[in-house]
Amino acid sequence: MILSQGPSTDRASRRARVLTNHILCSPSQPASPAMQPSPCLSYSPPELHEQFDFDVKEMRRLLDDHNVEDRDWLFGLMMQSKLFGRRERGGRLFVGPDYNQSMEQQREMTMKRIAYLRERGVFDGWMTRKGVEFDLKKFAFFEVFAIYDHSLSVKLGVHYFLWGGAIQFFGTKRHHDKWLTDTENLAIKGCFAMTELGHGSNVRGIETVTTYDSNTGEFIINTPCESAQKYWIGGAAMHATHTIVFSQLNINGTNQGVHAFIAQIRDADGNICPNIRIADCGHKIGLNGVDNGRIWY
Ligand SMILES: Cc1cc2nc3c(=O)[nH]c(=O)nc-3n(C[C@H](O)[C@H](O)[C@H](O)COP(=O)(O)OP(=O)(O)OC[C@H]3O[C@@H](n4cnc5c(N)ncnc54)[C@H](O)[C@@H]3O)c2cc1C
Repeated sequence: MILSQGPSTDRASRRARVLTNHILCSPSQPASPAMQPSPCLSYSPPELHEQFDFDVKEMRRLLDDHNVEDRDWLFGLMMQSKLFGRRERGGRLFVGPDYNQSMEQQREMTMKRIAYLRERGVFDGWMTRKGVEFDLKKFAFFEVFAIYDHSLSVKLGVHYFLWGGAIQFFGTKRHHDKWLTDTENLAIKGCFAMTELGHGSNVRGIETVTTYDSNTGEFIINTPCESAQKYWIGGAAMHATHTIVFSQLNINGTNQGVHAFIAQIRDADGNICPNIRIADCGHKIGLNGVDNGRIWY
């Protein structure tokens, strides 16, 4: 019988050679390139030997672009606290959140980190100071939060940029005087209720209705159907005390289109206000340090 030469006979003869070497206790010969040690086994991370072909500080300035010292100050604050998960690797200090914590623990840690940063003045002027220089510093800080953990940046972004920003840009002096300082200090915690179960990108079609009662001078907010429930609202499930509500404004039976209202949803002790129902959106694939919720009025 003539054996055809091919991959199966190659494999059989290689196996026979390995077995023979093994039985004779001789060191095995590399039989094929596939048995060579992989080059990645000798890989050493560049940060361990610190030899770069470029100036690391220049690269950092190029990438960060502005407020580099402010960013370093903020990273330094994080390094000083155990809240930010400081640890040492290869002789270097790092901070990073523990994503193995439960959803409840991650939410609690986000709030503790925010309280720590507030006590050290990180948010001073965020709602009350104006000017391009200060805005750039704020954005630099925001990038630092996002590099550290998206839950931290999103939780702060909802409070300062969505809730606070809506008051700044839709509100008048009356609203600014009443809300901006308390927002800056986190004496109140704001959220932003625009999206509904049935309406995301199509904000014009939202179904929440606010009716003006000319007898009492009140605006009455109502969720008329299940698809009008506010959905995905960051901060609503646990911590927010106030919200911006987007709704159709009805005056004397005429729809005036989408308008924004400020509404309290919890008291200072965290109790949900009367005639408001809130549910928790629960676990997400990521971002579990943010308490997204559903609201019915
Ligand atoms: C983690 C998380 C947090 C959130 N937090 C908040 C919050 O705090 N407050 C809040 O109000 N909302 C919040 N949202 C809701 C978010 O803003 C909406 O998800 C978003 O507006 C998109 O709406 P949708 O998910 O219903 O998608 P849809 O509007 O249904 O869109 C689905 C897809 O269709 C595309 N599409 C939609 N309309 C058009 C069109 N006209 N032309 C072409 N393509 C189109 C979209 O690009 C998308 O790819 C949050 C969402 C998530 C996931």
